[in-house]
Amino acid sequence: MLWFAQATALRRMATVMAAIMAFPLLLAEPAAAERASSYPSRPLRLIVPFAKGGPTDVVARLISPEMAKSLGQPVVVENIVGAGGTIGTLRAAQAAPDGYTLILGHMGTHAAAVALYPGLGYRPDVDFVPVALVARMPVLLLARRQFPAANLAEFVAYVRSHQDRINVAHAGVGSVSYASCMLLNHLLDINPTGVPFSGTGPAMDALVAGQVDYMCDQIVNAVLPLRTEVIKAYAVAGADRDPSVPSVPTAAEAGLPQFQVEAWNAVFAPKDTPPEVIAILNAAVVQALDRPEVREPMVGLGGVVPPRDQRTPAVLAALVSSELPKWRQALKRPAP
Ligand code: ASP
Repeated sequence: MLWFAQATALRRMATVMAAIMAFPLLLAEPAAAERASSYPSRPLRLIVPFAKGGPTDVVARLISPEMAKSLGQPVVVENIVGAGGTIGTLRAAQAAPDGYTLILGHMGTHAAAVALYPGLGYRPDVDFVPVALVARMPVLLLARRQFPAANLAEFVAYVRSHQDRINVAHAGVGSVSYASCMLLNHLLDINPTGVPFSGTGPAMDALVAGQVDYMCDQIVNAVLPLRTEVIKAYAVAGADRDPSVPSVPTAAEAGLPQFQVEAWNAVFAPKDTPPEVIAILNAAVVQALDRPEVREPMVGLGGVVPPRDQRTPAVLAALVSSELPKWRQALKRPAP
């Protein structure tokens, strides 16, 4: 009978241990529920790691007021520039994981930059929690209006024979414009002078003024200056022409099929941001992207709003995971 008493005592101890082990979870569940019910209780900030007026800033200022409507709190855009967007991105990675600091990152800050900076200071797939993909963006090869080439073939011939006298504008090492034209320059085996700016907003001003020769930039920054013919485009680095600039040929049509680049913008939160907060933020982005105040200007400027099934955190996590090795490979300088 002793064994029965021992077995009963063990069962009771196991029950007590299970209750003790579960206590933090029980405590956590009300905390999580309370957090979700009270969040957000103050304004949020959306870091844009590039200068005002550039494509990232434009997208951020399209979605932030619509996110605010869903969240019931202002979403304040904060431009923190420098180092190809990596300074602002690092600031976001180091922010408190409380759901009040977000970043609008992109293919540069959350993929290509890893291949370009040995000591980046953050890991896109570890130091951030994906919230949602916001836009996919074709990339165009653009030039100042007076650049002495009428098409891509003439551009290629000219830059190969004048590479020590031409310059290419970009938004810093790690940016979309830097990575995209680095890819192009590798393909053409040229190494022109790079002229960095704090974003392709100011870089576009220099291109329009004829102070720089060419640039690879996201379509939302190029559509209006192209329509007013203050710059020109030789190709869109995608599989198809873009309906917002139908006369611009694809790089493949223009004889350079290897020049294929697609940029994207996405919202990220610092790692350890609670899942219930991420769910609230994701819903706010999903709703914002369905509103005409976002869709019409975004599409009108050549951006592609992802369908609903592409707006989940899991889809964004998978995109970052696939882009990291892709850009590491793409930006490797081909062996001489
Ligand atoms: N997206 C950056 C900007 O908005 C430019 C870049 O990444 O090249 O300025």
